[in-house]
Amino acid sequence: MSEILFRDRRLEQVWEKLQRGERLLLDDGKLLFASNDLIAIGKMAHAVQSRRSGDAVYFVLNQKIEPTNVCVLSCKFCTFAKKPGAPDAYEMTIESILAKLTPAIHEVHITGGLHPEWEWKYYLDMVREIKKRFPNIDVKAFTAVEIDFFHKKFKLPIEEVLIQLKDAGVRTMPGGGAEIFSERVRKLLFNQKIGAKTWFEVHKIAHRLGIPTNSTILYGHVETIEERLLHMLKLREAQDETGGFLTFIPLAFQPGETGIKPRDQFTSAIDDLKMIAVSRLMLDNFPHIKAYWVMLTEEVASVALNFGADDMDGTVGGERIAHDAGALSPATLAKEQLIKIIKDAGKIPVERDVYYNPLEVHRSNIIGKIPYLNSVPFYEKLEKRQFRILPVVPRRMGLLAEKNQIDAGLFSLADYLHQQDRFDLLGYCIATRDQVRSVMLFSNHGWRDLEGKVIGIVDDTATSVKLLAVLLEKKFGVRAIFRRMHSGINDYSKFDAVLLIGDEALRRARSGLADFELVFDLATEWYDWQKLPFVFAVWAMRNDLPEAAKAELKVVLKRALERGEEDLGEVGQLHAKQLGLTSEAAKEYLEGFTYRLGERECEAINVFTNFMKEVQATVS
Ligand code: SF4
Repeated sequence: MSEILFRDRRLEQVWEKLQRGERLLLDDGKLLFASNDLIAIGKMAHAVQSRRSGDAVYFVLNQKIEPTNVCVLSCKFCTFAKKPGAPDAYEMTIESILAKLTPAIHEVHITGGLHPEWEWKYYLDMVREIKKRFPNIDVKAFTAVEIDFFHKKFKLPIEEVLIQLKDAGVRTMPGGGAEIFSERVRKLLFNQKIGAKTWFEVHKIAHRLGIPTNSTILYGHVETIEERLLHMLKLREAQDETGGFLTFIPLAFQPGETGIKPRDQFTSAIDDLKMIAVSRLMLDNFPHIKAYWVMLTEEVASVALNFGADDMDGTVGGERIAHDAGALSPATLAKEQLIKIIKDAGKIPVERDVYYNPLEVHRSNIIGKIPYLNSVPFYEKLEKRQFRILPVVPRRMGLLAEKNQIDAGLFSLADYLHQQDRFDLLGYCIATRDQVRSVMLFSNHGWRDLEGKVIGIVDDTATSVKLLAVLLEKKFGVRAIFRRMHSGINDYSKFDAVLLIGDEALRRARSGLADFELVFDLATEWYDWQKLPFVFAVWAMRNDLPEAAKAELKVVLKRALERGEEDLGEVGQLHAKQLGLTSEAAKEYLEGFTYRLGERECEAINVFTNFMKEVQATVS
């Protein structure tokens, strides 16, 4: 990681821990909050963020819908809720909700008051109608407070509430509701709302059902620094258990007419930036930290992109809760303006979907980075020069390359073959010898018993799914049904077998996947059959890049791999730690790959390409 000049020398011990990949503890967090060395804190958070998200900053074209402000509760800080019959109370019909949506957006974010009279069917119909009219819009809906309200009001178990909402079309859940996991603060400010216990119960059930969720903290009111940190540590512990949180969103309290603080007592920009940075440093297992510009203001959110945040939320049409409480930012930030803010921060504006899959990249000179341990030898020491780095799973890299939004990268073999007229090979690859350990089929059936069975295919894969089809059809003579699962957590119980790749497969190969008894390594199956290596990915660059850029790429890639190979244990160390692997285990795993395209690898590509042309399997 980069060098940092510390004015507050006490922070050096925190930086050393981070460089060793060690977890920060409560006392480290207290030290960070107590320190005035804001720039050094921001630089540490930025270094950690860059390891995770490269140069990417995500945003989504979204619409916020608050179907009603009628609420049975009266939380002290809330100026949005009204009692039934109040002159400014409102209730939206499904038609009026649909009228606010357009096919151009990718996400609708639904939260609102707890209405005393609406029926359960109304909520399900709301989600179903949105999906019916706008199949491409993902629904992020209902906080844990609302889920708990539905559970009590409609006398349904929490699990059943979530199953029915998922079946209706809910994809993810927002993170609000508990505000801050402190009983002291809850009793003081929002004693009618659910506490940490119920909030975590709801989120953990959602994760078990394959519904990823988000998480928030409301800070800047009466909470202590220790309460902020304990909130983060509780989330980190839950994330270790489920892996189902997508992002953490520090929400700055908006005093407005809430009566909790005078109207002009907004959090300071220094506090906001420190909150973002400390969140990034403490929550080492969270993929994303969001700078929610609606509450932070555009200016602070923009600086936050170099203080550990990698997400700006979105265009947020229709947001009212924060603005009713006095948030200062413009209510809707147009897409072009978001792109400009992100570019001005030196980052790549990445339009995403609700799962953080990149949909559009709004910048040129992009190198795609496969974010798995097996790719570390290429990327750990890579000099970016004129390029920026976008971490992206193999299949998504292929889709972006089709739109000319990736200039070079380690492409999945299938994607390269599909676009080889537009790309030049660079002579490097990820190829196995006789096993891979990170492309695994978890199954309850032997290979020949998979005929007609349903196999869940993780969304990330482009080549591994083809290898699976080739093995099933050509080696074992059976044909299965392939169904795509989204990236990350899933409910695997409805599948007969599941194909996982990358770090998740590596982790699961060691710990096992609940309810699946058999585990097959696809590269081993291939080797036993063909006595050839298997090439999963190849380095390639667009053949219309300027010659100078091509030459530069060749030089930096060669140098990066040579330096990476000097000590595979060392380059894989930080990444491996996140997976619970020692550097020795990482070294052993990385030594199992071949990184240069040789004769045997080219022969393997030819054999596989011919098989691929013959298989019929499709993924639905
Ligand atoms: S914060 Fe939510 S639950 Fe509390 S009063 Fe406002 S709308 Fe109702």
